[in-house]
Amino acid sequence: MDPGEDDFIDFDWHDSQLQSLLLAADKGLTSTIQNPLTNSPTSEPPSIPDIEDLITSTSPYARHRRRRGFLSVSDLVRMEWCGLQFHYTLESLEQRTDTPAMKVGREIHQALELEVHDVVDVEIHTREDMWGLRLLNCLIGLEEMLITGKTRELNVFGFIHDDNDLHSSSSSTDRYLVFGVIDEISRDPPISLSFPTSSDITWRLSDTKTRVHPHLPSPTTNTAPKFQMMLYKHLFDALTRGPQHFDHTLFFSLLRLNPATGFSHALHAHLPPTPASEPWTLNTLLHATLTRFALFPPLSPTLTLAYLWQRTMEPLGDVAFRHDEGVLREHLRRAIGYWGGRKMDDVMKGVEVKEAYRCHGCEYNERCEWRARKAQELADGNEETRTE
Ligand code: SF4
Repeated sequence: MDPGEDDFIDFDWHDSQLQSLLLAADKGLTSTIQNPLTNSPTSEPPSIPDIEDLITSTSPYARHRRRRGFLSVSDLVRMEWCGLQFHYTLESLEQRTDTPAMKVGREIHQALELEVHDVVDVEIHTREDMWGLRLLNCLIGLEEMLITGKTRELNVFGFIHDDNDLHSSSSSTDRYLVFGVIDEISRDPPISLSFPTSSDITWRLSDTKTRVHPHLPSPTTNTAPKFQMMLYKHLFDALTRGPQHFDHTLFFSLLRLNPATGFSHALHAHLPPTPASEPWTLNTLLHATLTRFALFPPLSPTLTLAYLWQRTMEPLGDVAFRHDEGVLREHLRRAIGYWGGRKMDDVMKGVEVKEAYRCHGCEYNERCEWRARKAQELADGNEETRTE
C-alpha cells in the first residue's frame, strides 16, 4: 500500500536493539512496546531486479523470514496496495526509506499511546529476552484492559495455516507464525463495576490512520487496513481459546527458542512474582500470557478505522465495517501462497490502469516493467482505434 497515505509500520525487531517498556499511567501497571524497524535513509532510487529473475527455487519466506521465524501482519497485507511494489521492496537489497508522512504518522501513534501509559527503556541481551518482553507486553496490556477498559499497542500472535496445500491437514510444516501489534482495544460500555467478561460487554478493535489529505480514503484504497484489522481480530480471538489450544512446541521451534530459558536481570526486574516463587522461563511466561488472554471473549465483529488529518490532528471520520472470516481466509490464501513460493503470480501484479494514480509516488515508477507494459498496451489500443 501507499506508505504516504497511511501510517503503516512494519513490526520487525532487531535482537540487539533497546526495547521500550511502558509504565502505565495509573495503578502502577507496566506495559511494553517495541521500537519500529528503523530504515536507513538513502537518496538513491532502489535498484530493482527483472521480474523473471525474482522467481527462484526458494520461497520468499525461506529467503527473507525463515531465519527470524515469523511473518508480521504487515507482511500479509501490504501487497494489497500493489503486489509488484511489495515484491520489489522485499527483493531489493536496499531498505526502503520512510516517507515524511510515515514519520509523522508514527509520531502521532506514539503520542496516542502515551495517553494510555508511560514508557521506559529496557535493555535486552538475548532472543529469549526479546520474546519475553513481547509476552510481558501482552500480559500488561491485557491487565490494562481489565482495569481501565482500554489498551493500545497490544502484541498478538498465532498461526496461519497454508490453505494452498490441499494435501496437508494443518501439519506443523505448513503453518506460519504471525505477529502483530493491535492499535487499540476498548470496552463498550466503558469501564464500570460489572465483570469484564459478562455478556453485556463487548471489546472493540479500532485503528487510527493518519492522512496527508484532508478527506477519507476511497473504498478501494483502504482494503489493506481492513485486512489488517480482520487479521488482528483473527489472532486475538484464537488466543482467547486458552493455552490448551496453542501449539507451544511449534511456537518455540519456529523461533528457535529454548522454552526453559530464563531472562537477563534487566528484564527480570520488570516481571511480576511467579505464583510458586520460581524464576520465570519463556514457557511459564507464555502459559501465563495465554491464560490471561483466555479471560476475554472474542472481539466484536464490528471493526473501526479512525482517520485523522496529519496537519491538524483533526478527525476526518470513522469507517466501520464487519469482520468477514471468509474474505480474510481468501486473502490469506493468496498472501501465504506468495510467501510459500507456490502462488507468487497471484501477488506479483502491478496496479490496474484505473488505479494508475498509485504509481505516482512509487519509487519503482521509472523502471517498473508492469507499468511500461500497460502503457504500451494502452498506446497499441489507441493506435488500433485510430486506424479502424
Ligand atoms: S510503478 Fe505502479 S505498478 Fe509498478 S510497482 Fe510501482 S505502484 Fe506497482
